[in-house]
Amino acid sequence: MAEEIHDIAVIGGGINGCGIARDASGRGLRVVLFEKNDLASGTSSSSTKLIHGGLRYLEHYEFRLVRESLKEREVLLAMAPHISWPMRFVLPHLKGLRPAWLIRLGLFLYDHLGGRNVLPGCRSLDLRTDPAGIPLKDEMTKGFEYSDCWVDDARMVVLAAKDAELRGATVHVRREVVSAKRLDDCWEIVSRDTCSGRQMTTRAKVVINAAGPWVADVLNQRLGSNSKSKVRLVKGSHIVLNKLFDHERAYIFQNADARITFAIPYEGAFTLVGTTDVDYQGNPEDVAATDDEINYLCEAAATYFKVPVLRENVVWTYSGVRPLFDSGEESAQKATRDYVLELDAPEGSPALLNVFGGKITTFRCLAEEVLEKLQPYLNPFGAPWTHSAVLPGGDFPVDQVAKFKKDLAASYSDMDAVLVARLARSYGTLTRQILGDAKTEGELGAHFGANLYEAEVNYLIEQEWAMTSEDILWRRSKLGLRMKAEEVEKLDQWLENRLSVAVEK
Ligand code: FAD
Repeated sequence: MAEEIHDIAVIGGGINGCGIARDASGRGLRVVLFEKNDLASGTSSSSTKLIHGGLRYLEHYEFRLVRESLKEREVLLAMAPHISWPMRFVLPHLKGLRPAWLIRLGLFLYDHLGGRNVLPGCRSLDLRTDPAGIPLKDEMTKGFEYSDCWVDDARMVVLAAKDAELRGATVHVRREVVSAKRLDDCWEIVSRDTCSGRQMTTRAKVVINAAGPWVADVLNQRLGSNSKSKVRLVKGSHIVLNKLFDHERAYIFQNADARITFAIPYEGAFTLVGTTDVDYQGNPEDVAATDDEINYLCEAAATYFKVPVLRENVVWTYSGVRPLFDSGEESAQKATRDYVLELDAPEGSPALLNVFGGKITTFRCLAEEVLEKLQPYLNPFGAPWTHSAVLPGGDFPVDQVAKFKKDLAASYSDMDAVLVARLARSYGTLTRQILGDAKTEGELGAHFGANLYEAEVNYLIEQEWAMTSEDILWRRSKLGLRMKAEEVEKLDQWLENRLSVAVEK
């Protein structure tokens, strides 16, 4: 039998790689994706998790990016109403920082640059009377409020990969691309299973390098290109603290150094504070928050909140590396957040497309642009389709989230309501696939702690490529924030047995 030649091989299972694989497979192309670790184990699980236009980017005149991102907010909300939701942001005004007229102008543009239909517009706030003023220091008397959206970034990646698979793509996780070389009419890609060490050869007409912070490593080390690296690695860290305030709006604070810091309600019981912007030269795999970054974020939040924001109250930190296109700017903060697609298609040779930059917010548009660029190098394929298509589990109207949750709760009325609500927000309509006919949580198999039951773990292994407790507790969910060390150990042991049984079979 002749060896199958895929149309597209994607390197990288972050939001960009999975988004491209999804779009391409939905257009009838034969797609294979390689991810060397877990899906979303790179930058795409370490973002601030905002679907946003990026108010701050207006100061750097990134109007194209802001307009595209603003328009995309409502598209992504409708695409994934289970894992994303609208959020209001409160911007307290502090004397000596950006003048009120400038903020008003920025917010006016923000309201009017991109398609905004369901999200409410901006307004001024009297923080002496508005409940958003209660947790803030007394000198914060005036402020503004505007809309953006929140998304579970890591779940967005997994759902994009799942959708790609449902549309025919082959998704390989824990399979590292070791090398790829051009033959006459296609690429020959060698990948290595990182669990067994086994190597495999795959052929594809086009290679897409969507390796995020590893884009230059893939280009120079795996594909043997001499191309000068155009990626600028900029690290960003976040801290998570026990709740600093008790409402559902987020804050955007201006810092004395002209940067901004978000304080966002997180996972029910916590507040997420971030981020930093620091040039990074190390291995992206080793990225971690430094003491200086943690202190910086604590101080930034402490400037505004009445309650002390202390290092010892930080319950978790995470860091990621932004794979930005190197636009030659001096400061990391000013480096463009826009994406750049670089096509390398010498006459008569198979094409390579490198992805630089790209935000969670713009992944769908980026994928559309990638496919447009690839048209001359592949047989004719389908038209753009993702604008009005939903991700798995998101097949209910965006304005009926409350009804969806209520109906689900009614179907499982004897089950722990907190569990059902969490599953609804993670899996949407697919929650029924996990809970099946079970009436109570006692019918869901072993309990590992923090409302995590065997039925959900089995689902994550069978449907979402999960293999380790880290995949389950820190990417498919954030239950790691609530589980005790001994509970994690119990899950580890259970997984070891479960997966060794699967291997024996
Ligand atoms: P990644 O997610 O890093 O994916 C690349 C993947 O390639 C990795 O999983 C890696 O393991 C894999 N890989 C590498 N080499 C190989 C190989 N040889 N073989 C196989 N696989 C390989 N964007 C927003 O829209 N909103 C935000 O609020 C936001 N906040 C951010 C905050 C911070 C601190 C940071 C760092 C970024 C933020 N972003 C935000 C930007 C966004 O997170 C990133 O731009 C995006 O996640 C990049 O996705 P990616 O797919 O390009 O890279």
